Amino acid sequence: MSETEGKAPDLQAALAAWREAVGEAHVVVDPEALEAARTATFATTQTIPAIVRPADTAQVQACLRIASAHRVPVYPVSAGRNWGYGSRVPPGDGSVLLDLGRMNRVVAYDEQLAYITVEPGVTFRQAAAYLRERQSSNFITTIGGSPDASLVGNALERGDGRGPHADIFQHVCALEAVLPTGERIETGHARFPDSRAAPVFRWGLGPVLDGLFSQSSLGVVTRMTFWLARKQPWLREFVCAVNDDAQLWTFVDRLQALALDGTLKGSFFFWNDIKAYSVTQQFPYAAVGRTPLPDWAREKFREGFGRWAISGTLTAPDAEFGALLEKRLARALEGAFRPLSFGPEVLDGEGGFQGVPSEANLAMTYWRKRTPQPEDPNPDRDRCGFIWCCVAVPFTGQDAKRATDIADRVPRLFGFEPNLALLAFSPRCVYLITALAYDRDAKGEDTRAQACYRALTRELADAGYHLTRAGLQAQGAVPAVRDDSTAVRRRLKDAFDPQGILAPGRSEP
Ligand SMILES: Cc1cc2nc3c(=O)[nH]c(=O)nc-3n(C[C@H](O)[C@H](O)[C@H](O)COP(=O)(O)OP(=O)(O)OC[C@H]3O[C@@H](n4cnc5c(N)ncnc54)[C@H](O)[C@@H]3O)c2cc1C
Repeated sequence: MSETEGKAPDLQAALAAWREAVGEAHVVVDPEALEAARTATFATTQTIPAIVRPADTAQVQACLRIASAHRVPVYPVSAGRNWGYGSRVPPGDGSVLLDLGRMNRVVAYDEQLAYITVEPGVTFRQAAAYLRERQSSNFITTIGGSPDASLVGNALERGDGRGPHADIFQHVCALEAVLPTGERIETGHARFPDSRAAPVFRWGLGPVLDGLFSQSSLGVVTRMTFWLARKQPWLREFVCAVNDDAQLWTFVDRLQALALDGTLKGSFFFWNDIKAYSVTQQFPYAAVGRTPLPDWAREKFREGFGRWAISGTLTAPDAEFGALLEKRLARALEGAFRPLSFGPEVLDGEGGFQGVPSEANLAMTYWRKRTPQPEDPNPDRDRCGFIWCCVAVPFTGQDAKRATDIADRVPRLFGFEPNLALLAFSPRCVYLITALAYDRDAKGEDTRAQACYRALTRELADAGYHLTRAGLQAQGAVPAVRDDSTAVRRRLKDAFDPQGILAPGRSEP
């Protein structure tokens, strides 16, 4: 029997030890800060007794040893802007927040080999500024979420971005992770002393452990290397709109072929009218009176837009090559309701698709609010209701239609507008991303949104389309599996975290 087995959690002893380990100022018990930390973009009940802010890997090791010794659960966040998936709120009640925001150093950067190694607190804004200052020819993928979200938190959740590295976790390596026992491990070749290839060679020697730390509660990641994408000498954004659903699914098939043959190299999007509406303006209460948006108002907005927009980028080594790609794309999208058009040519430039983060999409979270979006958007603080549901769908028109029909129908049954996008991040698979946007101050909407999420994920799962990310809203909503993986994952968890102190209650193992 281990020393701690059977011992009751002792928060006060843990707090005293953490103060010793990270300094008094970095153990926060201020009620206002704790109240803010337990607030998400949907209803939660979890309480947070303290926030602990380590400064480096050694302090993370000390913090986890203390948590294990006193059996006090902890929940790590890198930037804590996991909006739409639970924000900073831990899955279990009474977990102390391990806030890694102070660990915000860029540890290594190589222009020629195109990589950057960062600590967990480094944000998209910070990384973009770092590369700009160095006049880098490379860029880090940006996301639609907050520029102040972290590279590491996003990658660990297997986030999605814009450009050729849209599947973000595919482009990382050399993780450093601290286990709940306090042990430190590095993945790939990084575990060998002075390994020259650690930041550029993903697999290392032996089993590949990187995935164990993604969407899991097996360790706290304290360092990670991101591979950068090279800015393209020639880039053009494109957009067209479709009004006829049958045509949309034909276009899905045609663009899949262009993704497979390399004409389309970066991510691209199919997004519906509601999504477009909610990014550009708030719910038209003055004209419509009450939610949900009636069909006549939706159609009025759609007049100039179409039911679906298709947008993305073409990139090429030069304008001549680019012109050929334009022709191929134009042929594939011939007959669109709003014909294909191109933005200005971007030569060796930046932009949303080549590394400049933007807050523009956060407007979506204020869609149903009756007050305007403030200068410094923070949907947790402003009681915006917002829940993401993201499922994986084979990249065919037939599957896209089957899954989208469900996501278009279910939110309406619960009084929400279907806010939908298909994100093409690979030639084989797309994400169908549904956003439930509502006002947490409107009576009953928190409860209704949660019920809607459950109905939506159940119907999608029954049709064969499963979640890619299980945020806090997914607790109890992930379907049973058909193999032995639950028991095997449980054994892994017990081996890595014998005291069960890291993110207990997360929807896994
Ligand atoms: C309008 C809008 C648009 C969005 N668009 C996108 C998008 O395009 N792509 C996308 O991917 N997401 C998007 N999001 C979702 C979300 O904002 C991002 O995924 C964001 O990157 C997550 O926040 P974070 O980096 O602050 O992560 P955190 O909140 O720090 O962490 C996220 C999760 O990872 C775990 N974790 C964090 N750090 C560590 C660590 N060091 N070790 C172990 N576990 C850790 C946490 O426990 C938590 O479960 C969007 C959200 C909104 C509201």
